[in-house]
Amino acid sequence: MPDLFIDGEWRGAVGGLTREIRCPADGSLVAVVDEGDGGDTVLAIEAARRAFDAGPWPRTSAAARGELLLRVAGLLVRDKDALARAESLDTGKRLVESAYDMDDVARCFRYFGRLAVLDEGRVVDTGRADVDSRVVYEPVGVCGLITPWNYPLLQTAWKVAPALAAGNAFVLKPSEATPHTAIHLMRLLQEAGLPPGTGNLVLGAGPRAGAPLAEHPDVDLLSFTGGLHTGRLLMAAAAGTVKKVALELGGKNPNIVFADADFEAAVDMALTAVFLHSGQVCSAGARLLVADSLHERFATEVVRRARGIRLGGPFDERAQTGPLISAAHRAKVEAYVARGVAEGAVLRCGGARPEDPGLDQGFYYLPTVLDGCAAGMSVVQEESFGPVLTVERFGDEDEAVRLANGTVYGLAGAVWTRDEARAARVAAALRLGTVWINDYHPYVPQAEWGGVKQSGVGRELGPAGLAEYREPKHIWRNTAPSPQGWFA
Ligand code: NAD
Repeated sequence: MPDLFIDGEWRGAVGGLTREIRCPADGSLVAVVDEGDGGDTVLAIEAARRAFDAGPWPRTSAAARGELLLRVAGLLVRDKDALARAESLDTGKRLVESAYDMDDVARCFRYFGRLAVLDEGRVVDTGRADVDSRVVYEPVGVCGLITPWNYPLLQTAWKVAPALAAGNAFVLKPSEATPHTAIHLMRLLQEAGLPPGTGNLVLGAGPRAGAPLAEHPDVDLLSFTGGLHTGRLLMAAAAGTVKKVALELGGKNPNIVFADADFEAAVDMALTAVFLHSGQVCSAGARLLVADSLHERFATEVVRRARGIRLGGPFDERAQTGPLISAAHRAKVEAYVARGVAEGAVLRCGGARPEDPGLDQGFYYLPTVLDGCAAGMSVVQEESFGPVLTVERFGDEDEAVRLANGTVYGLAGAVWTRDEARAARVAAALRLGTVWINDYHPYVPQAEWGGVKQSGVGRELGPAGLAEYREPKHIWRNTAPSPQGWFA
């Protein structure tokens, strides 16, 4: 069956090209999928434009839109096992993590299904009896949605669900590495009754299949999740048509541990913060900042436990984390660690591929700790997006905050202390979109997600996430028009 979904039909790519998808855990062939190009994307944009301008979805009541999203949530639950398996084969992620992600995906559709119906606009108090003035919320139009490979369906859900809730049409371009759950989602949207052309899927490499979503005049909004470099390119490309742009870019997230922290919890979560999904998490706590007096004890325990982490494929129930997404990505992580060591960081564990012959066909890399890091090092400033923890020390609260804020990123981070007043002060001083106190990584769909500084523009999730996909329109109705006589 062809893999592109355009105007309610499954099609192959115009150019007839295909791409092999291989599992990062062992290099085995998962499937061969159609490989789209800019021409396919333009067809999809045109279909979405027609669906938005003349189709039923934007004119469907908010209640009915919400019902469709709730139906999709039900279908996602029905197909959870198949979806989790597909996601694990594409990403190499442990099946248990993919299953957890699929629960989050269904929760996201349910959340926006309910939110869709809540906010129908507001009355503006003009203080005049002869005027009826309202602000209503309208869909933005055609949305170009570009997603990464680390949480493929979850990142897609965070865009597709609010876009549909608000009444938009969309063209989705998932990462070329991980297309399968996006294909499955389109089938579910079709089954749930989404009108043809409202949701379209193109596959292929970013610069070819993705680029028209930033440049084409018929796309009204571009929502992108991915790397900082790509985000900058797309923001510039979108300027040509002054699109609305939402960007969820990377992070170099500080995890700050004060001397009075709960040691056991902080060590445990410092490992989860950075080694979950082998560090391929935008909010990974990849920078550990530890108080001088705690540094040696804390870092030694983190290193001891990091050495014991078991690597393995998606279906290895003993594995604690999996491979990197590709050989090219592993090479980037390796170069990053080598640069850190050359800059003076102390390699305390990892820094190599595992020797286990059972893992040699996959793109594995050992959990790595670089101690003795300093603010100016590239390993402290740049995202590795791999299982690499940098460790810096701080003397006092001011220094901790200054170091934590000392990168171009501002996505997320954590502070560990038993001192509530200090936790509140530090949380307020951190320039981050999300701050966790004595915790790491939890998120809820009701709260907004997004970064400040160069981690992004706009928000996903929560009411602000829905607001990204709507435009306010002020409607002023004079109920008793009469001549004003200014030029009589
Ligand atoms: P990437 O920027 O290489 O690719 C992301 C998507 O953009 C893919 O679909 C890709 O095909 C497409 N793309 C690439 N170049 C393009 C171009 N020139 N024009 C149009 N589309 C293009 O990122 P990645 O390697 O897939 O993902 C990892 C990055 O994503 C990390 O930096 C990570 O921090 C970030 N991320 C951020 C969040 C967040 O919420 N802030 C969440 C997940 C991932």
